[in-house]
Amino acid sequence: MRVEGDASPGDVLRVLSDSGDWLAQAAYNPNSDLVGRVVSWNPDERVDSTWVVKRVREAIARRERWGYIAPESACRLVFGESDSLPGVIVDRYAEVLVCSLSTPFAEKHRETLLDALVGRFPGATILEQSEDDTREREGMTPRRAVLVGAEPTEPVLFREGSALYLADIRKGQKTGFYLDQRENRSRVARYASGREVLNVFSYSGSFGVAALLGGAKSALNLDTSREALALGERIAALNGVDSRWESLEGNAFKALRDFRDAERTFDLIVLDPPKFASAKAHIEGACRGYKDLNLLALKLLRPGGILATFSCSGIVTPHLFRQVVAAAVMDSRREVRLLEKLSQPPDHPILMTFPESEYLKGFVLQVE
Ligand code: SAH
Repeated sequence: MRVEGDASPGDVLRVLSDSGDWLAQAAYNPNSDLVGRVVSWNPDERVDSTWVVKRVREAIARRERWGYIAPESACRLVFGESDSLPGVIVDRYAEVLVCSLSTPFAEKHRETLLDALVGRFPGATILEQSEDDTREREGMTPRRAVLVGAEPTEPVLFREGSALYLADIRKGQKTGFYLDQRENRSRVARYASGREVLNVFSYSGSFGVAALLGGAKSALNLDTSREALALGERIAALNGVDSRWESLEGNAFKALRDFRDAERTFDLIVLDPPKFASAKAHIEGACRGYKDLNLLALKLLRPGGILATFSCSGIVTPHLFRQVVAAAVMDSRREVRLLEKLSQPPDHPILMTFPESEYLKGFVLQVE
């Protein structure tokens, strides 16, 4: 690879093949393994601030068309490369927008992005939480800032279907909530009626809430984060399901073994671990982790039980994840049927020319 002329991080460069054929326009960052991130396939498009505003408006308009921008609701308004804005994430929780900028390209257009958001959501509080691991890999330091309005002192309340949730924007994980599991929460809830649920890697318990609103008998929420569990208890109370709610602070790998040794069983288990692999070197270890967890969960299910199992490691492909889960099924010696394949929702779209944007996959399995 060779760069011609002066180029600074965040500039958009024209990319040609070795033989001089047109490839794309890409946002440049010499300090990253990804030196160029495609922003346009079109040689004639001028990627300037007008273009950035247009892309933000289009991204929001798509969500609007899909019915994702109702008052009091939450959704991802901009999803990086998938919305042609590499490194730009914007989540909306009711009247609060949370932005994460993780590339020099995003950084360069920070003011323009902010203007576009203020234009579309006047009156909204806008926060910047540029702290994810991508930013580090791009050679940038983390930043937190209040861009418009005042930082909320309490978690932000929003509605998802018939459920009420709280996003802890100041101290929470991601931008405060796992919006990407929205559709999967309601899919899993369909199997929940009358079931005893174990929600592993629960964070603030969203799968537990959805299952209880779907008629589950009880939900035991397990996570290492005491803060997340405490928030979960508030959310359970908000939804009037606290009498069927239990929290357990602990390491999933150990807690599942303890349940196995105590011969404790469940009817529905959700496994939604954090990202186990972000680089190729971690794939093998990640697969060992997935297999171990899935095998343990399969052993804890009563006959007829349901396992909803997820992986959010983009580098572990859906095919590989399925092989790992199948290996756990083989070792469990139980008869298991795949009822549903799950993915990420339309506000976290997968760009067909950027397969890496497909990161969330899951299976709903029934165990005999
Ligand atoms: N299912 C959640 C999101 C899960 S994110 C939801 O729907 O909101 C992954 C969670 O796993 C985080 O809350 C993190 O605190 C927790 N976690 C990470 N390592 C863990 C471990 N070894 N045991 C239990 N929980 C863990």
